[in-house]
Amino acid sequence: MPAMPTTARRIRRVLAVLAVLPALAAAHAAAGDRVVLAIGAHAGDAEVTTGALLARHKRLGDRVAILHLTLGEGGNPKMSPAAYGEQKKREALVAAKVLGADVFFGPWKDGELRDTEEAARFVADVIRQVKPTHVVTHWKTSLHPDHEAAFRIVNAALLLASLESFVSAHPWYRGVRGVYYADNWEDAEGFTPYVYVDVTEDLAAWKAAVTSYEFIRGGISSFPYLDYYEALARVRGAVAGKRSAVALEVDPFAKKRVFDALP
Ligand SMILES: [Zn+2]
Repeated sequence: MPAMPTTARRIRRVLAVLAVLPALAAAHAAAGDRVVLAIGAHAGDAEVTTGALLARHKRLGDRVAILHLTLGEGGNPKMSPAAYGEQKKREALVAAKVLGADVFFGPWKDGELRDTEEAARFVADVIRQVKPTHVVTHWKTSLHPDHEAAFRIVNAALLLASLESFVSAHPWYRGVRGVYYADNWEDAEGFTPYVYVDVTEDLAAWKAAVTSYEFIRGGISSFPYLDYYEALARVRGAVAGKRSAVALEVDPFAKKRVFDALP
């Protein structure tokens, strides 16, 4: 399948400016009126980076959902992808239950996620079904091609979901107020935190959710996921004047604040 045309990305950028700016201005939206959708390339990505934020919004009365584009089933040298994929799916279901999140799975294989029309159409229909007010996904640059593909797919999907002319199982939807990018150790290049959310009271729920995954508990990957993300929450919290925080990036064109006078 061909990559999404750049024109679609440009249109999406214009729409995103219109969508993100009011969201940043309305920082104190009423609790319970938000729907936060986290989209990750591999099962575990969304929860480890954004799980505390999801737990926070769930606690505030908002609805939260996760879309895993692949199971990330290729990451265990001791198991076949098929067997590890079954394990990852079970782990993802437990993690979602702990967070109180609805969970969706894409049909793609680990390492084979591509920026295609097919992928954008699939994600657009999930967006139409979930009706998120806020979407969190991968930053644009990453060590992992699947993560970079996820960035492009989600941005293309956000545009498609809003178009009446694109027909899918669910009707068009234009309620996304903000698009944010997650603080993922693999997506660090050019990632400059812009929005910080206090998750001091949500780290316990985050830890309970992410430790449903064997790769996060340790023993599969040499990367110390739990240590890294616990320390990161403290580091982001320190900068934000909180005990623990989740930091998010936004698109460069969304970094614009307008006032009648200096605040
Ligand atoms: Zn990943």
